[in-house]
Amino acid sequence: MGSIPNIISDQKAYFNSQKTKHLDSRLTYLKALKNEIVLKEQAIYDALKLDFKKSEFESFISEFGIVILQFNLAIKNLKQWAKPEAVKSSILTFPSKDYIYKDPYGSVLIIAPWNYPFLLAIEPLIMAVAAGNTVVLKPSELTENTSQLITEIVEKVFPKEYVASIQGGVETSTELLAQKWDYIFFTGSVSVGKIVAQAAAKHLTPVTLELGGKSPCIIDDSVDLTLTARRIVWGKFLNGGQTCIAPDYLIINSNIKTEFIEALKTEITKAYGENPSNSPDYPRIINTKNTLRLAKMLKNEHVIFGGEVDEETCYISPTLIDEPSLESAVMSEEIFGPILPLLSYTSEDDIERIITHFEKPLALYVFSNRKSFVEAILNKFSFGGGVVNDVLIHFGNHKLPFGGVGHSGMGAYHGKHGFDTFSHRKAIIKRGNWIDPPIRYAPYNEKLGILKKMFKYFS
Ligand code: NAD
Repeated sequence: MGSIPNIISDQKAYFNSQKTKHLDSRLTYLKALKNEIVLKEQAIYDALKLDFKKSEFESFISEFGIVILQFNLAIKNLKQWAKPEAVKSSILTFPSKDYIYKDPYGSVLIIAPWNYPFLLAIEPLIMAVAAGNTVVLKPSELTENTSQLITEIVEKVFPKEYVASIQGGVETSTELLAQKWDYIFFTGSVSVGKIVAQAAAKHLTPVTLELGGKSPCIIDDSVDLTLTARRIVWGKFLNGGQTCIAPDYLIINSNIKTEFIEALKTEITKAYGENPSNSPDYPRIINTKNTLRLAKMLKNEHVIFGGEVDEETCYISPTLIDEPSLESAVMSEEIFGPILPLLSYTSEDDIERIITHFEKPLALYVFSNRKSFVEAILNKFSFGGGVVNDVLIHFGNHKLPFGGVGHSGMGAYHGKHGFDTFSHRKAIIKRGNWIDPPIRYAPYNEKLGILKKMFKYFS
């Protein structure tokens, strides 16, 4: 592979050759990429297992399976998505036919994180290619096996002047960010998101930032405790808690807290057994650095369940912490691991005080059977997206845009939203020549009065 500036200039030349714009060619490449990925299905599971002991079931449901759904969607709908969209014309531009053209940005940089290393690299890649761009993909350096496999797949399918996967860590990312891109799509932490935004600002490059944050989960006293606990345990401990939209902490109505804690303990044991380190379904923390970061959060806290740490194997058991202070280590940053702090509330003011203590979260969950309570929560707080009476599943409907707001990010994708993210919506008017209303032309004379009447009539 050549140097980064060379790859980019080759990609710009390739884009300028108009080759990426042919829909049939985009479809051919998408199908080829899908085929290669299908052929490598087992290798993908093996790589994820080697990287952080992710089970095949979780690798299918949260990486491979979703990627295939996105391929199918893009392949089936590409021609429709890419078609110029006719919009109603305006009396001010009469006679005309008005359209939105879907224009690829050009050279796109995609930087992916490690926590869903396959999904979060390939899903944006599918949509960037579908939209007609060239792509440099930078997978995460922390998931060596998956990133190596992604690179092999990309190299097998695409010429590097079309799509290139460049592996490396901060240094590589920094070099990539120093180049001039037409679009940057970044998934990762808030702190690196700010670095990406600064680099993009230098060239006025548009960005999507898919970031993280502390996503709250509110549970009132009208809920079915067992069902609620089962759903939360699933969403919190999936992927070892290393999910950007995992419930970061719970805010529980104090009337049911004691009983609910018992329900949580029961459901954790049902899912992972008495000793989760023996469960084939329980992943490990990505590396020692993160294991130590999480272990530190447990110091001086009231651990009421779990709390076992094995630095050597990067294992932390599913852990419940009771009533940490909002200033504690565990509440000061996104947890991103299998530790669940439990806070309680007695009034809606308590909920507001806790949630507004933090930046706008990526997700918010509310469990309640009271409609007015739910609506009040949904309308009061600003957050990326959320679910009522479950967790995570808003990720699963491609019709819903997925993204953050404020510190949890900007922009959104999934399904057609992803295609739109990688397309500039170019406004086009095709003017008719059969009549040329004279009102706009000087000399204006008495035309202002007529114009004002027109504006009033048509507004
Ligand atoms: P990260 O920000 O450390 O790394 C993400 C990518 O940025 C990697 O490819 C890495 O090589 C690169 N990078 C790291 N430091 C850099 C620097 N100084 N300059 C330039 N590039 C740099 O994030 P991570 O640890 O891989 O992932 C975890 C974070 O990602 C969590 O905060 C999580 O919430 C967030 N996340 C968000 C989503 C989402 O869809 N919103 C999805 C997954 C993860």
